[in-house]
Amino acid sequence: MKKLLNRLRGVERDILQQPDESNAPYYEAQANEVEIFEAAYKKRLPVMLKGPTGCGKTRFLEYMAHRLHRPLVTVSCHEDLTSSDLVGRFLLEGEQTVWQDGPLTRAVKAGAICYLDEIVEARTDSTVIIHPLTDHRRQLPLEKRGMEIEAHEDFMLVISYNPGYQTVLKDLKPSTKQRFIGINFDYPNEEIERKILRSEVPELPEELAHKLVAAGRKARTLKDHGLEEATSTRALVYAANMMSAGIAPIEACRAAMVNPITDDPELAEALMEIFRAHF
Ligand code: ADP
Repeated sequence: MKKLLNRLRGVERDILQQPDESNAPYYEAQANEVEIFEAAYKKRLPVMLKGPTGCGKTRFLEYMAHRLHRPLVTVSCHEDLTSSDLVGRFLLEGEQTVWQDGPLTRAVKAGAICYLDEIVEARTDSTVIIHPLTDHRRQLPLEKRGMEIEAHEDFMLVISYNPGYQTVLKDLKPSTKQRFIGINFDYPNEEIERKILRSEVPELPEELAHKLVAAGRKARTLKDHGLEEATSTRALVYAANMMSAGIAPIEACRAAMVNPITDDPELAEALMEIFRAHF
């Protein structure tokens, strides 16, 4: 019996990202997001993290899960993701069919925080099954098993949403959106972004961190001139890492903040001009 329990615990550890009490994820708050999230958690309200990619939403959630001592289950949603991928399915094992819980079901049972990253990418049936989880019912329908399960009292649902990506065809329904507490994120201000760079890449000389943040902010202004995505904090951290690995600053900028972001030679040149002016 003890062996079996240990095995099950082992499995659970693989599946759920248990908070490591000793190692808090580093997160630099931008406004009152920590307080708002804690209040939502206290009242068991689902939360929507809204903002452009690479501005700290995932890091924030890792930090909050640690702070609230909850395991975190993350699902990166994509266009082929169905409700069965979230909830679970019957699998053939030899002659028998056995039910296997999906990540959402495991989180609902274990009282974890379930993070559906970019939920809008998933098929509509996936958005519909979360509805009964987001209101007072706190239930997850397992249609294929003809049953519903009650969420663990500590379970929390979090989704992320990037307003820049949405089109008329691909957006969350208002009836889904209004079920969430919304927390807006944006790229951090200059001082916070410098702090983040210094903490993520401690060996980066102060002067380079300064220049990098200033250049990144300037590059962001090109967003309105045809760039689909602005230079993110993540891209700045990448550039800082390349510099610390010995790549010349201008080449680090090209590799981290130009090549992956645009295929348009004119836009690439406009970005490079900004970086050349700073380094
Ligand atoms: P998102 O989920 O919004 O796409 P991430 O949370 O993955 O973005 O952030 C990308 C990277 O930027 C992180 O890995 C981290 O290095 C850095 N970062 C961004 N914002 C913060 C912040 N407020 N505090 C600490 N690190 C941050």
